[in-house]
Amino acid sequence: MRRAIFPGSFDPLTNGHLDIITRSAPLFDEMIVAVLNNADKRPMFSVDERCAMIRDVLPTVDTGDCRMLVESFSGLTADFARERQATAIVRGIRAVSDYEYELRMALMNRRLEPQIETVFLMAGEEYSYVSSTLMKQVFELGGRVAGLIPELVESKMRDKLNP
Ligand code: ADP
Repeated sequence: MRRAIFPGSFDPLTNGHLDIITRSAPLFDEMIVAVLNNADKRPMFSVDERCAMIRDVLPTVDTGDCRMLVESFSGLTADFARERQATAIVRGIRAVSDYEYELRMALMNRRLEPQIETVFLMAGEEYSYVSSTLMKQVFELGGRVAGLIPELVESKMRDKLNP
């Protein structure tokens, strides 16, 4: 049984995240999309809203035979991975700028939990510049983000801005 976690803020889910999910799903029997409850950041969506959006969108993408779960967590990613008996932590790399941070996190997580490997997947070229932060900034200023985030996420963002 190969179980992975894909941890992140997912504030909100983008097509870049979905690209990593569809690429990594064939490598595992089960994958937990793990939504970080990060008290430091001021998110656009609550953890529950983020989890609900991911649960709604996941059935629209091809994850093959991999069982998909969505859970929130707080605290250390390494602790969450161990508690869930995951053998891998999946992360995406977009550009060289992601590398340094991801390397530090992967080495620290390996020190904390030596038996859990971090698995990096390269972003699809078409999404390599897509980040949740950029999507929020462009959307808030009225720019077009269609094709870069799921339609459901776009409509939830619209609701947030015009309640
Ligand atoms: P975090 O705050 O932990 O970086 P994010 O939600 O921003 O959380 O990202 C979660 C993971 O998804 C990270 O590994 C990040 O590199 C990856 N990721 C984000 N956007 C993309 C993208 N467009 N293409 C590939 N991977 C991505």
